[in-house]
Amino acid sequence: MRRSLTRSNQHFQKAVNRLPLGVTSNFRYWGNDRTIYVDHAKGGRLWDIDGNEYIDYRLGYGPCILGYGDPRVDTAARAGIEVGGVFALSTELEYAVAERISKMVPAAELVRFSNSGTEAVMAALRLARAYTRKDSYVMVEGGYHGVFDAALWYTPMKNWDPSKGDPEVAAYSEGVPLSLKAMLHMVPLNDANRLEDVLKIHGDEIGAFLFEPIMGNCCSITATQAYLHDARTLCEQHDVLMIVDEVKTGFRVARGGVQELLGFKADLCTFAKAMANGYPIAAVAGREDIMRRIGDDVVHGGTFTCHSVALAAADKTLEILDETPALQTIEAYGIKLQQGIGRILDQRSIEHSFVGHPSMGGLFFTAERPMNYRDWANTDYSFYEKLAPELHDRGILCEPDSREPWFICEAHDESCLSKTLTSFALAVDATVSQLHARIAGGTA
Ligand code: PLP
Repeated sequence: MRRSLTRSNQHFQKAVNRLPLGVTSNFRYWGNDRTIYVDHAKGGRLWDIDGNEYIDYRLGYGPCILGYGDPRVDTAARAGIEVGGVFALSTELEYAVAERISKMVPAAELVRFSNSGTEAVMAALRLARAYTRKDSYVMVEGGYHGVFDAALWYTPMKNWDPSKGDPEVAAYSEGVPLSLKAMLHMVPLNDANRLEDVLKIHGDEIGAFLFEPIMGNCCSITATQAYLHDARTLCEQHDVLMIVDEVKTGFRVARGGVQELLGFKADLCTFAKAMANGYPIAAVAGREDIMRRIGDDVVHGGTFTCHSVALAAADKTLEILDETPALQTIEAYGIKLQQGIGRILDQRSIEHSFVGHPSMGGLFFTAERPMNYRDWANTDYSFYEKLAPELHDRGILCEPDSREPWFICEAHDESCLSKTLTSFALAVDATVSQLHARIAGGTA
């Protein structure tokens, strides 16, 4: 049965008069008649203003790692309100949370808090440039590091012809100064030779290698350990700081994030999403000698940094992730979900593979796992794009963009799993029928 989006559609028509696209982030707009507005969310479920219930695998793009409205975190946050908000001064709790982060992530020798992933990555890049005295930087194709000009670049793959060399680099947005492009180099993940080539030629100007070893914005495509080893060595050889963006993987894929999972150490790393179960707080952290530059000759700050509510929520969330088996519960659910989805697709002889960590797994409709964004671009993701709306109609909320992984929270339980698998099977069948009908009608 199709859901009704009558109220959401009506609200969209009203909201669009005052809010561009009727929303507060371009990614929340799913079309004039498919953009949904939230009534409330609890645990692993979300309800829209039409009363449709969804099992949510977006979780706000990852933050709600324990589930929406977690009573342990919300109680702490309420106590945080009593502290008073922001003071343009620090509180004692900042030290305690920084201590916890350093314990969980050995590379985080010193910690500075920010409000968002974007701010944390901006700070990391500024620190790297200050420390190395080199302004250029390398990013990985298919990566995403937030909404700031230095990071809003990508490699459009649509008309890319591999025989003609690397894909071009383009700005994600009008308004990003094209002059910034001169400082940026893009490389594919898992190709150390390409990274070496770039560093050999431009290493004198490059201060940072900024990347996500599990690409939370590209189906969770994952760096191999051999690549990480080579990248680490190359960074050292060329006096380049390795910035590991753990905004999505941090405190999620392991207590110590992707660095613990894959066994390596960053020079600087950034955290945000899972840190406070959805309350707005982030961090830049790293080697003491680099981080000490803050306050020496590098500026970092912000009126709202370490708001007492977000900080209290971070304190409780990190305590839970560190001291309870929450992450094991999340991983176990992710494994069961992938096994169930795998069975459904196998029964229908649909080729597929899962990528990344089960707590934020990517689903591909090819048997071979992609190793980088170029591989992703060569897979047929149109099946996923047709499947996603069918899932939404059946109460399963995944991102319509196939590059976004499926996020799991601690509150996803057996009832979520069985509902998801039943709906998934129906959605796959509906998608396949739709494709057959198109082929029969000659519109494929
Ligand atoms: N870095 C990564 C890896 C992200 O996934 C994101 C957001 O999705 C960001 C940075 C930006 O974080 P925020 O949206 O909190 O500014």
